[in-house]
Amino acid sequence: MNIDKYTDTIKACRFCFMCRHLSGIGNVTFTEADTPRVRASMIYGATMYPEKLTHPDLIKTMYRSDLSGVCRRNCVNHYDEVGLTLAYRADIVDAGAEPEYIKQIAADLQNAPAWSVSGEGSMLYIADQYSIESGAAAAFAKLAKGSFKTAKGGACGKGLWVLGYRKEAKVQAENFARVLTDAKADTVVVSNPAIYDMLKNTFAEMGIALSAKVMHSSEYLADIKVKALGSIYYLDSDFLRNYNEEYPFPKAVLSANGADLKFFGTNDEESYSCAEGALVLAKIDAALVEKLARYIEDRADDPAKDVIAVSSPYTKVQLKKYTSLNVKTIEEILADAL
Ligand code: SF4
Repeated sequence: MNIDKYTDTIKACRFCFMCRHLSGIGNVTFTEADTPRVRASMIYGATMYPEKLTHPDLIKTMYRSDLSGVCRRNCVNHYDEVGLTLAYRADIVDAGAEPEYIKQIAADLQNAPAWSVSGEGSMLYIADQYSIESGAAAAFAKLAKGSFKTAKGGACGKGLWVLGYRKEAKVQAENFARVLTDAKADTVVVSNPAIYDMLKNTFAEMGIALSAKVMHSSEYLADIKVKALGSIYYLDSDFLRNYNEEYPFPKAVLSANGADLKFFGTNDEESYSCAEGALVLAKIDAALVEKLARYIEDRADDPAKDVIAVSSPYTKVQLKKYTSLNVKTIEEILADAL
């Protein structure tokens, strides 16, 4: 079973409460079950009594994790509580025990349309649904120098991967890899950190190689010069910070253009992404995403006036949906100051 690879994490987390204050879902639902400790305790119990592995309460708890990775990041031993949750989901799918609502989300993801590629150039920009809806893709087009190709419309496999559909995710990822290879780009640029993580880490886990250089738009735009930016609160991406070793480019490009980066919230450890790592939590339980958005809104110094920058188009879309925060993607902030 996939969870067998996480025996050390299960044994370490089941008696540890050190990161409970960083459990995003636990912080908005006040439920102990939504912490790495209790998730690990429940899975440890299921390793002794295998019939409990498919208990509906356990399945529901494991599918509502926000997968932010902040507990793993801030754990002194970096125990992989995210990997354990994903492994459990894969075991549940392998056992055919996933609930109907998960099957339906997976079926919808598998019915994603094909990618279409247009334009000319050696750089390929991935304009996924969130990058378009947030305005990041349009702003990136204003900022990018020279012509480039754009890929639109398809799925990369990350959604199926986080739901535990590993075989189906790999099929979709291989198709995505073919699209990227056929585009003959030497650089692939994404605004959506979930796709960045897919290309950087999940592809490797699946054994898929890509010859093109992959970067987030903030890295591609690292040398851009715009009019001096003022005070900005920056909400980091879970995928860029917690899954990709504190990826520095979003903050760097803002600072290099004169942004006075203000401290947001009460600490620099929590996730303020609305469950970016879970990708499809809004389809599993939209009320949880709304609670996470309002939790962020409550921590703004001056919600009506603060300028909030995000490197995740997903986070902007969710915050705009549920709050009145003045939130923009990094691409929009830079394009507005051209
Ligand atoms: S991830 Fe680390 S800090 Fe959190 S419960 Fe596990 S061992 Fe403790």
